[in-house]
Amino acid sequence: MESTLRGIGVSPGIAIGPAVAFRDDRFEIPRFDVDDVERELTRFEQALEKTRTHLSTIHARTAEKLGDGHAEIFKAHLLILEDVTILEQVKTRIAEEKINVEHILNELSQYYVELLGAVEDSHFQARTADLLDVMERLQRNLLDAEPLQPVEMATPGILFSRDISPSDTVTMDRSNVLGIALDSGSPTSHTAILARALEIPAVMGLHSASALVHNDTTVILDGSEGVLIVDPTEDTLASYRQQQETLEALRSALRGIRQEGETTTRDGVVIPTQANVELPFELVPELRESADGVGLFRTEYLFLNRNTLPSEEEQYQAYFQAAETMHPLPVTLRTMDIGGDKFVSHLQISKEENPQLGWRAVRFCLERKDIFKPQLRAMLRASTLGNIQIMFPMISGLEELRQVKAVLEEVKSELEEESFPFDPNIKVGSMIEVPSAVALTDLLSQEADFFSIGTNDLIQYSLAVDRVNEKIAHLYEPAHPAVLRMIKWTCNAAWASGIPCSLCGEMAGDPLYTEALIGLGVTSLSMSAVSLPLVRAEIGEIDFGEAQELASHLLRLGTAAEIKTEIRTRYEKRRSAEAYLSHAAAREKEVTLPLERG
Ligand code: PEP
Ligand code: MG
Repeated sequence: MESTLRGIGVSPGIAIGPAVAFRDDRFEIPRFDVDDVERELTRFEQALEKTRTHLSTIHARTAEKLGDGHAEIFKAHLLILEDVTILEQVKTRIAEEKINVEHILNELSQYYVELLGAVEDSHFQARTADLLDVMERLQRNLLDAEPLQPVEMATPGILFSRDISPSDTVTMDRSNVLGIALDSGSPTSHTAILARALEIPAVMGLHSASALVHNDTTVILDGSEGVLIVDPTEDTLASYRQQQETLEALRSALRGIRQEGETTTRDGVVIPTQANVELPFELVPELRESADGVGLFRTEYLFLNRNTLPSEEEQYQAYFQAAETMHPLPVTLRTMDIGGDKFVSHLQISKEENPQLGWRAVRFCLERKDIFKPQLRAMLRASTLGNIQIMFPMISGLEELRQVKAVLEEVKSELEEESFPFDPNIKVGSMIEVPSAVALTDLLSQEADFFSIGTNDLIQYSLAVDRVNEKIAHLYEPAHPAVLRMIKWTCNAAWASGIPCSLCGEMAGDPLYTEALIGLGVTSLSMSAVSLPLVRAEIGEIDFGEAQELASHLLRLGTAAEIKTEIRTRYEKRRSAEAYLSHAAAREKEVTLPLERG
């Protein structure tokens, strides 16, 4: 019988297919006595062999798909299987205590977690995580449970799981994953961001869907509405198939439109629409045709899913490639925003009580100049084509902005001494995503070349709602009047100092907010590439003057509900496919920069 589960739509699109359960972590580790020690030792050897085979296959596949750097993690896992201390410990305990091997492995894991978990050293912490991963693989093999592998599906289907990590998402074989349905997660978690990057429709925060939905049951996943329909009737299926087709037709029509040039409002105001880039493979040459540059290059992905730091050279190559692909359009490289929910096991970040309020982004960089400076060197070296700008995340006040800029100056002097060329006029911007920075935008705007509002964090910090906590996801409200006011204050300060003010949080990719954001004074929008067609078409429907009037009206409203009703009503009027196409075709090409409108 058809039933509907509601979650949070985190990556748009409709997927229809059979449910495929991924990685059920809830397996019990039994404890039993063994009479035949030899037999137990043989079981252990066989499980080791099986695990070795699995890991070697995963290593080879990862190397082929993502390169040797990313594959290194599995090489380290293979080495753990050869660790003499561990092997001897297990064998001795089997012989002496005559208990089953999976139980011994469980106790050993707990022992190492306690021993190594207390040591605040990245090496030990990375080893603990690796060790637990390998132990789990071994235990799964002993219990004949499903092996732990990168997400891979033999036939097309919709992946169900309690959770998957950003690394699962990166290593996923996209071809058969039609959609992703997760019990946990939220729109701004990095798994969600990656799902959007890979253009996989996804719904998160579905509570216990992975336990409720049986394998092979037909499901419809609507990543825009955050809805999952289990066992749909023929009528429902037909209606969603129709929607799927309409959406695809609309998107390809819009793809054609977006080749035509700059994004302008109906009355000719240019609002550059740029792409957020999470992964290097997203930097396809077509992006130059469909986006007005890269407004946010999240460099932390060079640091994730590996055991060693990327070298300055490796980073330089990645940044230069981005600059070259997009040239002459701008590429905004954001310095690493490590910490928060982007945990990098090989760096010395210990587990924190409140990671979102912890040792993150520039806070980490200013203490770890040994890591920060090579990144800045690589960015500067990659700037020779003149289209790179550097942006600092999580700036909370003037001190921090001055400190990071001082390090940048230091690095520039070093490069000069070493005769490395770089763009001497490189623009340096500040993200505005911490409420204290909003309060200081009048001062920050005098020392930054541009602002970019990070609403993902600004909403989290101003409303005190952890962006990755699905329990309170309903309180995460982009249309909150306080958020709108903060965006307005930031735009006003940028305007007064004559600097551009972009917005690169997920709000930028939701066409529902486009008119309000433009009216508030945001001068460019940066979003996942998949959102570009809809947002660009939406901008073409908007009149700049009307948008300003709307913004003034919204700023007088006291609740998110009133604000949403207002913007939704106006949006609905504009959203039919026919309206998009006819207005876009008739759109004038006269261009005016909002900054020049006074
Ligand atoms: C933001 O906070 O809005 C942002 C763009 O940065 P991130 O999501 O990487 O924290
Ligand atoms: Mg942020």
